[in-house]
Amino acid sequence: MKAWAAEPPRVPFRQVAIANRGEVAVRIIQACDEMGLGTVLLHSEADIHTRAHRLAGKTICIGPAASSASYLNIEATIQGALAGGAEAIHPGFGFLSENADFAAACERARLNFIGPPAAAIRKLGDKVSAKKLAQQLGLPLVPGYEGAQQDLSLLLAKAKEIGFPVIVKAAAGGGGRGMKVIRRDDEARELIESAQREAQSAFGSPQVFLEKYLERAKHIEFQIFGDVSGKVIHLFDRECSVQRRHQKIIEEALSPSLSADVRRRMGAAACAIAEVAGYRSAGTVEFLLQDEQFYLLEVNTRLQVEHPVTELVMGVDLVKAQIKTALGEPVFAEREIWAPRGHALECRIYAEDPETGGLPSIGRLGLVRWPEGPGRRFDSGFESGDEVSEFYDSMIAKAIVWDETRPRAIAKMLTVLSQSIVFGVKTNIPLLKEILQHPDFVRGTMTTRFMDQHFSAPLRLDPLDEAELRFVKSLAQKTPRAYRSSEGGTNPGNLLHGVSPFNSHWRGV
Ligand code: ADP
Repeated sequence: MKAWAAEPPRVPFRQVAIANRGEVAVRIIQACDEMGLGTVLLHSEADIHTRAHRLAGKTICIGPAASSASYLNIEATIQGALAGGAEAIHPGFGFLSENADFAAACERARLNFIGPPAAAIRKLGDKVSAKKLAQQLGLPLVPGYEGAQQDLSLLLAKAKEIGFPVIVKAAAGGGGRGMKVIRRDDEARELIESAQREAQSAFGSPQVFLEKYLERAKHIEFQIFGDVSGKVIHLFDRECSVQRRHQKIIEEALSPSLSADVRRRMGAAACAIAEVAGYRSAGTVEFLLQDEQFYLLEVNTRLQVEHPVTELVMGVDLVKAQIKTALGEPVFAEREIWAPRGHALECRIYAEDPETGGLPSIGRLGLVRWPEGPGRRFDSGFESGDEVSEFYDSMIAKAIVWDETRPRAIAKMLTVLSQSIVFGVKTNIPLLKEILQHPDFVRGTMTTRFMDQHFSAPLRLDPLDEAELRFVKSLAQKTPRAYRSSEGGTNPGNLLHGVSPFNSHWRGV
């Protein structure tokens, strides 16, 4: 009997609150619309001029711009959902999505939490407790130390015992933050202390743990899903080795790096840990893979940013599957055969300046055009005229493509990026294009150190030539005035300010 099978039957709901923002809020609203469910967007004061705000059935402002006062505020979120007449909450990803206290508070307020049960989040969402569970199941883990004893001298001794390089991580961490790689004995003290300080300020707990740092590893993860039958299945893998500061930038499904045998064993490990924790809904089990050996890294008890690549190769809708599961409806038929088809790639498009190594480029978006076409999907929270604010992550869209083979998917993504137009802010599109053409990426041999090894220096983009300048000016003039950047006006110099013309297919023509 699964742990959650004893829960009371779920109440059908007709109105869903969305406790998130940006593209994932749009993604959830669209799924609810298609399922005939009402939506209530719980947003901050800074997110009024956004796509999600325009698309939601109802909107309720739950607090000021700072996330701590709005998107991370459990009480305000629950009160907002109740005031909006919602009977369920979808937390999206980030913010409160992996917070077991929030899931429990929703249950107490009789709001159906669209995600795993609080108990499963507690067991798996916490990196240290997930590792303990994995250990009990005999799953492979990176050697390390995750004890409660945190004196510096003990941590130093443990680091030495593991053998450098060692990675120190915040126990309560996430999003690639609070991690430091220690390469030598003489820097260990300073790096552990600074990781503890960072852990305290970012996650409210100074607890850290240590792991052997794998130098040539790939990041491979499995999409898992537990439906009301109690069965947990996996929907195959994604590779997310292209990372900057431990954060993913390009993801793909399936991984080009797995043999059939390794894939089968990793998939079985992913399902085993989820099933024993009584998992329900969508989740991701992350691994590192080095020299054909895999090691369990962590479990993310939520929908993942990169879920669309799985949706495209598996022909599923993970958000609707989450909602159906929360409604108590079965998702997977007993004898259904799940087979991946073709190849999908996702690029995260950030408002940032590639010539400064990625400093955010915030402001009002000018003309924005995504080149629609077969096998192309754009998940975006912003439209022309919207403001990319300094308060949140600067991702403005995800470009996702599907094609029959990996080389064709790469070619499609390059075409898509070249024909995308984003004015008003600079974007990382030129960087993404360089990555997609790098021999390591093309061969599929990239490791998590790929960006450090090949793209540590800011990009150098050639200045525009005369013809290109004329083109930009003419495009800028065609842009409705309301969409021009705030200091746009009629000054042609200003019209070019912040424009990202390097992205467009006309360059080089
Ligand atoms: P977060 O929850 O912050 O995303 P993870 O533990 O999932 O942290 O790790 C994020 C990334 O950091 C991994 O994909 C990998 O690139 C790197 N990383 C983490 N642990 C190790 C390790 N032991 N060896 C090598 N790289 C690691």
